[in-house]
Amino acid sequence: MTAHLENAQAPQMCPRCVLDESVPGFRFEKNGTCNYCRMQDELERAFPLGEEGASILKRLADEIRREGRGKAYDCVVGISGGRDTSYCLYYVKEIMGLRPLAVHFDNGWDSDIAKTNLARLCDALDVELHTVIMDWPDSRELTNATIRACVPYIDVTDDVGIASALYRTAAKENLRHIIMSHSFREEGVTPLAWNYMDARYVRAIVRRFAAVPLKTFQNVDIHHMLYWMFFKGIRLVNITNYYDDTGDKVEQLLAEKYGWVDTGQHHMDNEMFALVYHYARHKFGFDWRVVELSAKVRTGVISREDALKALQTRPFFETDEMVDYCLKKQGISREEYDSILKAPNKFFTDYPSYYPLLRLFKYPIKLLCRRHILPAHVYEKFFDAI
Ligand SMILES: [Zn+2]
Repeated sequence: MTAHLENAQAPQMCPRCVLDESVPGFRFEKNGTCNYCRMQDELERAFPLGEEGASILKRLADEIRREGRGKAYDCVVGISGGRDTSYCLYYVKEIMGLRPLAVHFDNGWDSDIAKTNLARLCDALDVELHTVIMDWPDSRELTNATIRACVPYIDVTDDVGIASALYRTAAKENLRHIIMSHSFREEGVTPLAWNYMDARYVRAIVRRFAAVPLKTFQNVDIHHMLYWMFFKGIRLVNITNYYDDTGDKVEQLLAEKYGWVDTGQHHMDNEMFALVYHYARHKFGFDWRVVELSAKVRTGVISREDALKALQTRPFFETDEMVDYCLKKQGISREEYDSILKAPNKFFTDYPSYYPLLRLFKYPIKLLCRRHILPAHVYEKFFDAI
């Protein structure tokens, strides 16, 4: 093949961010940039910062405080010990003046730094910490099932477990607000094909690929969600959308005020991400950081050149030693892992899921996102990034 033909076939990159045509759901828009750039611009307009954002947050704080009257807490805040959730907990307690219950989910992969951060922060802020620990054999088997399913995202234990821990705790404490800290400005919107999740899909993966039965795993099904959202009136509020949490100032504040230690990379409060990153790169040929770096380029936190430079390197934690450590802990041999890397790639569309059903409710879901009942970016992720 000639160099010319190779170039002709190379995926074209968006001139504004660092996503290219190899990213699922990527499309060029009329203005020459990509649909992920448009999505972020739309979210920017829907969720303003500055004075407008501050006054929305004030109204939210008043409403959450009113709802919390006579209860032990005002709201539940999901926390991992990482940058975004730690800053969110600080913001809820110190800036919004609320009485949160911090909820942490541990699937057995918490780093020591994350554990120390959690304890220090909750102690200093005088916030009660409720930790939900997943049964380790169940956690290990569920992750192994997703690895054997050959799908891009292999940490479903965390995604299902966090949702389950937050909603079940809020329902038990009779609280109506769960505060989350997904930041579209810092994290972007991940292509749906890279990390889709629903109860039917998880059940199908477990049935087909779990080598031993899961004993205590609690799935999060549609009927659970309907009960929590409409009977218990629980809302998932992403307050991060209304404050500026971009750049180093967040790490500096947390370190100075609470002795918080930087894990060095988004998601590294969870050590399994060494395997998550390695697996995606070697099986699917993508780098998870591309979404986050693109978001930061659009926000102006880093330059496009620096993002491209970063993508030429490996994350510091994606080492052979860390991958070996993860595989050993998961009980997967290198031989099995290598054969999984070579096996045909699959996506959630290769397995049963609720996605066809969700598509029918596209517009009601958009409304739930805009009314803070579901996270803001869910609509974009499920119906635009595909
Ligand atoms: Zn773009």
